[in-house]
Amino acid sequence: MSDTTAIDTEPQEQSNIAQSQEKSTRLVSTESRVAEISSLLRALEDVAGGNGLGQRREEAKSHPTVRHENKLVQVRLGMASGLFTALRQKHPQTAEHSLRVALGCSSWSLYAGLDEETRDTIEVAALLHDIGKIGVPDSILSKPSRLSSEEEALVREQCRQGSDIVAECCGSERVLEAIFHSTTRFDGGEKDQPIRGEGIPLVARMIAIVDAFDSMTTDQVYRSAWSRDRALQELFEYSGSQFDPQLVKQFQEVLSEHHDVLTERVAARWLNELRNSHDELPWQPAHESDTPGSASRMAASDILARPLFEQKLIEAIRDGVVFVDVQAKITLWNKGAEQLTGISRGAATGRTFAPSLLEMCGHGKRRIHDGSCPVARVLRTSSQIRQRLMILGRQGKLVPIDLHAIPVVSRDGAILGATILLHDAQSEASLEEKCEALHAEVTRDPLTKVANRAEFDRMQALFIEAHEQAQHPCSLIMIDIDHFKSINDTYGHQAGDEAIISVAGLLTSMCRTGDLVARYGGEEFAVLCADCNNAHASRRAEEIRKKLEETPHSHLGDRRITASFGVTELQAGDNSETMLRRADRALLMAKEQGRNQVVQLGNGMEQQKSKKKWWWLGRFSGKPVIETSLSTAVPIDIAIAKLRGFVSDHQAKIVSTKDNKVELEIASSKVSFDRRKGDRNIDFRIEMEFSERREQRMNNLGFAAGEYTSTNIEVKVCPRRTSKRRGSDVADRAALILQSVKAYLMAKEECELLAESQLLVL
Ligand code: GH3
Ligand code: MG
Ligand code: MG
Repeated sequence: MSDTTAIDTEPQEQSNIAQSQEKSTRLVSTESRVAEISSLLRALEDVAGGNGLGQRREEAKSHPTVRHENKLVQVRLGMASGLFTALRQKHPQTAEHSLRVALGCSSWSLYAGLDEETRDTIEVAALLHDIGKIGVPDSILSKPSRLSSEEEALVREQCRQGSDIVAECCGSERVLEAIFHSTTRFDGGEKDQPIRGEGIPLVARMIAIVDAFDSMTTDQVYRSAWSRDRALQELFEYSGSQFDPQLVKQFQEVLSEHHDVLTERVAARWLNELRNSHDELPWQPAHESDTPGSASRMAASDILARPLFEQKLIEAIRDGVVFVDVQAKITLWNKGAEQLTGISRGAATGRTFAPSLLEMCGHGKRRIHDGSCPVARVLRTSSQIRQRLMILGRQGKLVPIDLHAIPVVSRDGAILGATILLHDAQSEASLEEKCEALHAEVTRDPLTKVANRAEFDRMQALFIEAHEQAQHPCSLIMIDIDHFKSINDTYGHQAGDEAIISVAGLLTSMCRTGDLVARYGGEEFAVLCADCNNAHASRRAEEIRKKLEETPHSHLGDRRITASFGVTELQAGDNSETMLRRADRALLMAKEQGRNQVVQLGNGMEQQKSKKKWWWLGRFSGKPVIETSLSTAVPIDIAIAKLRGFVSDHQAKIVSTKDNKVELEIASSKVSFDRRKGDRNIDFRIEMEFSERREQRMNNLGFAAGEYTSTNIEVKVCPRRTSKRRGSDVADRAALILQSVKAYLMAKEECELLAESQLLVL
């Protein structure tokens, strides 16, 4: 239509002067200043992966770019897109021009903050404002020189008829009026027009301006394109007469301000509409790859087809897929989102994505306020988030979802919006809950909620292994409530249960991270103390004992209860069982010694394992693997008492005792806590010969000279049945036995003592 505006019918000379001036400036400015609306169209195509505009004129309608343009138009016009196709057939330049005008108007109305319906109206009317040219003879449309006044009148008249053509398939009065008045002069013209000035619909006044601007800034058959500034100058010159002066001013602002943002947003709007409406439109890009020998053309068609693939994926995926713009306004809401939330695409699109929209709840079903919207945070920080949330599902019940929001950032780093994936996490959540419940059932004691015996056994082995590796001490406290039977008898089983619960609570409250509290049996508890030696564990046991003693129990009529404690530290040669039995022995001693007390047994880790295997004598059948002399500073009777602890904790069998000789048998499964080595049982025989020694010497610290008693023990460790065993395996286990013997008897090997005394001399 612009071809027939007053601007284009101005005196030829004036135009010629302006044109020649303009050509020189254009040479400079064309490179740097692309006409704004054209750039919008290009931006749109860039996003869609289309080719340049220039090619379109020459290419047949099957060209991918034309198809893309058709698709854009189909979105806006629906059924009426056939009219646009007819116009393209008739005069491709006019069709392209109409699309640019529509995009320009869209950009402007966005800037002006016009409502959604007005934007729709202006876009559709702009796309069809030149439809009347279908009735203009080709000879006039492609005439390379200026039109005569008759020809101009014919063109103007045909354009007026455009609204009649559109009326056949468009029910919107606003669109029809906009098309009709897009050629109406603002001042009413020479002939008195029934409407003028602001009586002309706003959208028509806007189209008139963008229409003229686009015509001026693009090549015409009768003149080459003007620069943007030149075209703007023309608009201002005719503002008040041909154009609305206020609108011309505003249009100038649109071109000079926030153009990039507008371009991007319009492109996003059109492309988004395009994607959303795919279902309603029977649009299919041709699959050129179907034909043989088209591999080289595949790249271009692939780019165009990709949005279709993406769209198929978005629509078919069961997860909710939501796109939002930089203001968190929803631009895409797929079927998955509809099914998950019960909110239709129509209702969601255009709304702001906010927690209140989905009645979003966080941990503990606490409502998330709109001010704490996770998506808004993504837009603010440009970093993605993944969160388990609850939303109101379509059944009206809260359902767990995994929300994954990813910022969409342009190449220059500007945030454009975000993509949001809403994954129905109901099955995961219920599975996790079940697993948790199952785990709790398997590992927790139902009454006290602390670890049960099975969990304690499992954890103790891991606990020992970890501490052994790190060479850190660890201890075990066994606790048994005193005279509990009488508590039950006096206050009843229920009250007894309450007492057990409160003891468990006390133990838990006095534990540190890394410790483990377990109910070992009826009124018996075990506490694994991480990074804790004998002395420290005994102190902690004493604190617990005191606290328990001081605590009145309401369900026992404020009576206080006490408990006995057995403490031991992991020591060389230990395994889970020896450690546990030693702690249990200590507990038994506490009971025997009058209850309500802490007894500690064992040597702890201070006596480190000897890394040397100098006593390794090879794998001779029945021959000792280890043969060594030990020395302990305690008298023989105490050494033998200590040996009882070893026998008891290792569940060793006393084969014979004669004079000062003891022969024991020990199963290797009782030796190692290393399950891999414990797979194969090797039984060992241990022979020990005790002798007491008195000697004049100084003490271990090198002073206090006098007579000292010590016990010497000749030890032999050998496998009971040997031969085919792997030598190193047998030696490792025998070494563990020796370490344990040393730990229990508080003994050292003669050679270690020798090395120590040499150190002292030095
Ligand atoms: P001691 O000081 O020697 O430990 O005396 P005790 O009475 O505590 O020891 P004994 O082993 O004789 O009795 C333990 C009692 O604990 C017997 C049993 O009925 C009671 N018991 C074990 N499990 C539970 C339980 O889950 N709830 C209640 N109420 N009592 C329990
Ligand atoms: Mg008890
Ligand atoms: Mg008991």
